[in-house]
Amino acid sequence: MERIAVLTSGGDAPGMNACIRAVVRTALNNKMDIYGIERGYAGLVKGEINRLGSRSVSDMIHKGGTFLKTARCPEFKDLEAQRQAAEALSAFGIDGLVVIGGDGTLRGAKDLSDNFGIKVMGIPATIDNDLAYTDYTVGFDTAVNTVLGAINNLRDTMHSHDRVSLLEVMGRHCGDIALYAGTAGGAEYILVPEIPYDLDEIASKIKKSYLRGKTSNMIVLAEGAGDRDEIAKIISEKSGISVKVNNFGYIQRGGSPNMADRVLAARFGYKAVELIRDKHDSCAIGIKDNKIITVPFEEVSKAEKKFDNRLYNIAHVLSL
Ligand code: ADP
Repeated sequence: MERIAVLTSGGDAPGMNACIRAVVRTALNNKMDIYGIERGYAGLVKGEINRLGSRSVSDMIHKGGTFLKTARCPEFKDLEAQRQAAEALSAFGIDGLVVIGGDGTLRGAKDLSDNFGIKVMGIPATIDNDLAYTDYTVGFDTAVNTVLGAINNLRDTMHSHDRVSLLEVMGRHCGDIALYAGTAGGAEYILVPEIPYDLDEIASKIKKSYLRGKTSNMIVLAEGAGDRDEIAKIISEKSGISVKVNNFGYIQRGGSPNMADRVLAARFGYKAVELIRDKHDSCAIGIKDNKIITVPFEEVSKAEKKFDNRLYNIAHVLSL
């Protein structure tokens, strides 16, 4: 009987549990034994591997985070740690591995496959949506909706007090969370690492909008696009209007996954097990134009993320 294992690694994202559930139940449906590895590659290296059953994933589909836990494991870049991981899998008689995580996790998957011949399927899960080869990653949609809730709340209070708000959101070097939440939330300004911006111009526009009677403005700032306090200070000084800074932080990483992420998790998890069953080469799984795709790991790191300039321009026009 085939034996496979699943782990979650890197930053947690809502929908990881739904994805583990999909892997576990698809494996059982294919009469495979399924094992859960705790704390990502760190747990794999230490052999923290436990048998899972259908009931292990009961009541999990709606929970944020990951019940298998996740961890950073910097030493996994070294061949020796990868060797220990391969030996742990071999000791348990495991022939296939599903990893769920972001770009670093997929790099680890490539190494395990290239250096030790382990069959590994990679599922993209990160709130940042910063993987170029796939349109969406598990967790992104939920995070955007969580940010959107914060924008809605901020709007109420800003409007009442005639204020300018600056909300910093996550995304590392990628502006997608800011772009989508800002567009959906009707933000007046969306500052992302991919597009240069001019604080003089923003301050002057905010000042003019006040004179026209528009007394509240929302700025959504991607964390990779600059220092929130510095930006707020410059805009306040130049416009003469105080800017209230909010850092949304880790709140946007948690919460119950929404429909889009649960369905994506189900499709990715199901596909990963099918690929192992069908003896497919190790690869990353993704989604393009609503079709599930498979991509060799070497192409994952080569692909260059394209920012949606068109949506950015639409948001800009609609915010006037
Ligand atoms: P994410 O998967 O969310 O991008 P990280 O970048 O922290 O998060 O990566 C998760 C883990 O993947 C790391 O802690 C490390 O164990 C492993 N990893 C990252 N980069 C590499 C690499 N170049 N080679 C091997 N393993 C890696």
